[in-house]
Amino acid sequence: MSLSLFQTFKLPNGVEYEQPLGLFINNEFVPGKEGKVFDVHDPATAKVVGQVHEATEADIDIAVDAAEAAFYDGPWSKISSAERGRLLTRLADLFEENHLILSSIESFDNGKAIQLAKGDIQASIGCLRYYGGWADKIHGKVIETDKERFAYTKQEPIGVCGQIIPWNFPLLMWAWKIGPAIAAGNTVVLKTAEQTPLGGLYAAKLVKEAGFPPGVINIVSGFGKIAGNAISHHAKIHKIAFTGSTLVGRQILKASAESNLKKVTLELGGKSPNIVFDDADIEKAIEWINFGIFYNGGQTCCAGSRVYVQEGIYDKVVAEFKRRAEANIVGNPFDDATFQGAQVSEAQYNRILNYVEIGKNEGAVVETGGERHGSEGWFIKPTIFSNVTPDMRIMQEEIFGPVCAIAKFKDIDEVVRLGNNSNYGLASGIHTKSLNVALEVSNRLRAGTVWINSYNALHWSLPFGGYGESGIGRELGKEAIRNYTQIKTVSVNLN
Ligand code: ADP
Repeated sequence: MSLSLFQTFKLPNGVEYEQPLGLFINNEFVPGKEGKVFDVHDPATAKVVGQVHEATEADIDIAVDAAEAAFYDGPWSKISSAERGRLLTRLADLFEENHLILSSIESFDNGKAIQLAKGDIQASIGCLRYYGGWADKIHGKVIETDKERFAYTKQEPIGVCGQIIPWNFPLLMWAWKIGPAIAAGNTVVLKTAEQTPLGGLYAAKLVKEAGFPPGVINIVSGFGKIAGNAISHHAKIHKIAFTGSTLVGRQILKASAESNLKKVTLELGGKSPNIVFDDADIEKAIEWINFGIFYNGGQTCCAGSRVYVQEGIYDKVVAEFKRRAEANIVGNPFDDATFQGAQVSEAQYNRILNYVEIGKNEGAVVETGGERHGSEGWFIKPTIFSNVTPDMRIMQEEIFGPVCAIAKFKDIDEVVRLGNNSNYGLASGIHTKSLNVALEVSNRLRAGTVWINSYNALHWSLPFGGYGESGIGRELGKEAIRNYTQIKTVSVNLN
C-alpha cells in the first residue's frame, strides 16, 4: 500500500495535528517519482514513528523546474519587494500562531528538550520577520566616475537557490535559509536532513497558507547522497547554501566546481574554545561553559567544546563545573524541566560514545558522565574530560555531543595559542572582568564570533559563520543578503 500524503500525529504532550508527508513542490504535497519512503524515528524511544516520501534525482529536477519557472515567468518575477516582505512577515505570523505545534514537532523529531525547541521557534519567527523587513531595503548605488557616464549598480537575486540543512536545529536552519533567500527575491529548493523531516514539511504547509505563489519555496525530504547530491550538482541551481559537516561541505564545494560554479556558502563544523580567566565571575562563567557545551545536547556547530581555565582557578572550576553538569536535567524531551534531551540518532549516539572511549584511551580523565543515560532511547550523560592535551583527538575533532574537554593555561599568550590551535574557527567565548583582556583576546582569536561573558548568544541580526574550515560566507544579518544577491553594474554613455 502506498504511503498517504498526510497523517494525524499525536505527540507525547497531547498535541494532535495533521503532518504532511509528501514532497512540497509547486505548493502541493506530492509523492516522490520513484515511490520511495523512509522511516522517521523518535530519538527518545529509538522507535520508528512514521514515514515520509523520499525525493530522488527526478524529484529534484521537478522542484528546480518549478522554482525556475516561478523565478523567471511566474508571479514571483513581477512581485514588488514590499510584497515579498509582507509574505515573509505573514509567514512569521503563522509560525507564531502555530508555535506550540512547531515546537512540539521539533522536540519529537529531533529529541531536543521542549524548552529549547520553544526557543528555536521564537528565534525562527524573529529571523523570518527580520528578513521580511529587509526585503524592500536591498538596493544598489549610483557610482560617480566621469561626466561622460552615468553608472549604477543593482543588487539582484541569483535565481534558484539550493539549500541543504542539518538535523540539529531543523526549523531554525529552515528559517535562516528561507528568510534571506526570499527577501532577496530568489526561489528555493530546500532539502531537510533525513533524520528530521517533519518540521520542514509542516512549515511548508504554512508557506502555502501565507500566500506564496507556487514554486517559490519547495521543500523536499531525502538523503544527502541522493537528493543532496542532485541539488549540489544541478545545472539550473545558481547558488547553494549548506549547513552541516566539514566533510560534506568539501563535497558541496567540489560539486559546484564540477557542475556550473554555483555560488557556495558553507556553515560547517567547529571546535570552539571557551576561555575562563582567573578574574572571571566564577559562578557565572560556570553557567556559560555548561550552557556552551551541553545546550542542545552538544549538537551545536558552535559548541564550546574546548574549555581552557587559567591555572589559579582551574581546580575549583573543574570541581564546580562537574557539580553543575551533574545537575542538568537529562531525559524526557517533553518534560518542561528537561534541559538535555536525546541525541538525534543511533549513528550519532554511537559516534559520541566512541569518542568517549578514544578520550579514555588517550589518557584524559573522565570527571563525570561518559556513558548512556537511562535504558531507552539515545541519551548520553553530560561528560567532562579533564587533563586533555592539545594533541588528543578529543581536543582536536568535533564530537557533536555532550562531551567537554578541559585544559589549564598560564597566560594570554598561551591561551591564544591553544585557542587558535584548530583548523576550525567558528566561535569562541571569553570570561573575564577585564575589558582589556577581553578585547585583546577577542582580537587575537581566529573565530567568526566571540562571546564575552556569555555563550551561544546568537541573534538573527548578527552575522554568523566561520574562519578556516568552519565555512565560507556568513549567515544572518545583512551579510546573508549579500550572499543571496549578485551585483549588476549598469553604465550609460552620456556622450
Ligand atoms: P551530520 O554529519 O551532522 O549528519 P551532514 O553534513 O552529513 O551532517 O548532513 C547535513 C546535511 O547534508 C543533511 O541534509 C544531509 O542529508 C546532507 N548531505 C549529506 N551528504 C551529502 C552529500 N554528499 N551531498 C549533499 N548533501 C549531503
